[in-house]
Amino acid sequence: MGRIHELGDHLSNKIAAGEVVERPASVVKELVENAVDASSTVIDILVKEAGLEEIRIIDNGSGIEHEDVVTAFKRHATSKIQNEEDLFRVRTLGFRGEALPSIASVSKVTLQTCSITEDEGSKIELDGGHVVSFEKAHARKGTDLTVQELFFNTPARLKYMKTLHTELGHITDVVSRIALCYPNVSFRLVHNGKKLLQTSGNGDPVQVLASIYGVGIAKDMVTFEASSLDFEIKGYMAKPEVTRASRHYMTIIVNGRFIRNHAIQKAIMDGFHTFLPIGRYPICLLDIKMDPLLLDVNVHPSKLEVRFSKEGELKEQVTDAIRSRWRKETLIPSAAKGFVKREEKPVQTTLQWDAPTTEELKVDRPFHKEIPTHVVTQPEPTSPVSFQPEVDSSFIREVDTESTDVWHEPPHVEQAEPQEEQSEYRIPPLYFVGQAHGTYIIAQNDEGLYLIDQHAAQERLKYEFFRVKVQQVPNDVQELLIPLTLEFAPDDFMKITENKSKLESVGVFLEEFGMNSFIVRSHPSWFPKGEEKETIEEMIEQLLQMNKISIEKIREEAAILMSCKGSIKANRYLRQEEIETLLNDLRKASDPFTCPHGRPILVKFTTYELEKMFKRVM
Ligand code: ADP
Ligand code: MG
Repeated sequence: MGRIHELGDHLSNKIAAGEVVERPASVVKELVENAVDASSTVIDILVKEAGLEEIRIIDNGSGIEHEDVVTAFKRHATSKIQNEEDLFRVRTLGFRGEALPSIASVSKVTLQTCSITEDEGSKIELDGGHVVSFEKAHARKGTDLTVQELFFNTPARLKYMKTLHTELGHITDVVSRIALCYPNVSFRLVHNGKKLLQTSGNGDPVQVLASIYGVGIAKDMVTFEASSLDFEIKGYMAKPEVTRASRHYMTIIVNGRFIRNHAIQKAIMDGFHTFLPIGRYPICLLDIKMDPLLLDVNVHPSKLEVRFSKEGELKEQVTDAIRSRWRKETLIPSAAKGFVKREEKPVQTTLQWDAPTTEELKVDRPFHKEIPTHVVTQPEPTSPVSFQPEVDSSFIREVDTESTDVWHEPPHVEQAEPQEEQSEYRIPPLYFVGQAHGTYIIAQNDEGLYLIDQHAAQERLKYEFFRVKVQQVPNDVQELLIPLTLEFAPDDFMKITENKSKLESVGVFLEEFGMNSFIVRSHPSWFPKGEEKETIEEMIEQLLQMNKISIEKIREEAAILMSCKGSIKANRYLRQEEIETLLNDLRKASDPFTCPHGRPILVKFTTYELEKMFKRVM
């Protein structure tokens, strides 16, 4: 007697639901994606109790024909792909035909729909996946689907739900990201009668960014672009002075689908390079278009993860696009943020922010009686849970006028240098004014007043120097007076031995010396003076900490490490000539804005901000 049998549809749907419907936000994701796939231009998402009580999605899309309604709830029933070939050229968000049956199997569903091709609509009700009623019914064009009592028949899953706050955060997150993918669609998210998010659907991604992150952040974002034979990239990013404590604020869209991808996130971070403080992440929207053949979307039930055939190239293109964009930008944070309100600043952004007009927002929403249609004239920056606009105070520098213990000659502003020379450098000439607390240099020019962290500046200069040095084959070598003997644990010894040649490329020459030890006899002459021994030891230590070891990574880390050595420490008073040399060198640096650890080097008060602070202008 065989003991193996096929499971009934009902049970398989419930099993599939385990993967597809992880939490209320997954239901929202699947249903909103269906609405998008149906070419809707207006989508309302009405949620009660973080979706556990009710999720209702109303769209104005193509609707479902009466004869398809029951089929739509069958396992692997889809209108989106026909054959195997289509699977490799998926152009819709859905294609697995799993969402409706999975959702229906763990909740109570009511669907009303009317296809654009039919006069009469349909209404179907299901309870735990079983059809309770199905009839022709009057319905407006489009689809209106309500999911109630999610997980009522899967108590284990229900128990696993986090707080309403967390679940609602996930929902907001999903809707925000889909809205970023489709700026042409007007989305509205309402929770317990309160509107959390609304986008105008006028096609401008900046407006969507504004409704999610607030107008202040959105209008200061810069755009970047890149294209190659395989990829077309367009992106928006906030300046590095505005960062976040989580990776969450990087949204990656591929062919209209938001995805999770560590490698691409890393590529974005690499584009910011040393501009980000440690542990901080950028706010960025990355929109990638590519041939669907180069993309496998069928690797994850919720289609959040995808696989790229040319991931390496893509990563490189993303990093380059971001890096070269920052090269065009002067990234000196304003020090007067706390004093001068944003709106009062003269607008100098490259992006034009136009608030959506009342007309644009007065879209004909498919509505719901209990919830009044809102007409807003200005998108309200929302503060949904996971997108809580968080004020980053680390860059808001206040000026402490009382304790500035510096006395200086009345500033002498030299003639501005000729135009052509100015354009070569990333910052305008800075003229010495003084030094405060043995730590900050005070400088000025026609544009305003600057405070410069002398230690950070010096680190940046050293970093740029060493970054060049470690690229070169070390030929000017110096013998150590006393050779260095280094002993390691056996596994570390193995790791070092395997990567010996990589260490040589940055000037560390190890000779094996008995069991588990090395001896070092020399080092390149440009190693930080007096700290050669520590440098060698720390470079080996860094290698041991690395997971994936590459020459580039070793060089980069070595340059950062050496830049920290022997820089002018804070609390050292400098002579005017020393400061002038430093300012001059800084101007010539290829990235004069942040130290290699991402801390700002200089902050600025524009002349206008100073006048504003002292109420010389109103
Ligand atoms: P998939 O999206 O993978 O095709 P689903 O189970 O999500 O599978 O949906 C099944 C089918 O139901 C879809 O292929 C589509 O034809 C239809 N459908 C679902 N939701 C909608 C909607 N909002 N508007 C129009 N058709 C829909
Ligand atoms: Mg679907």
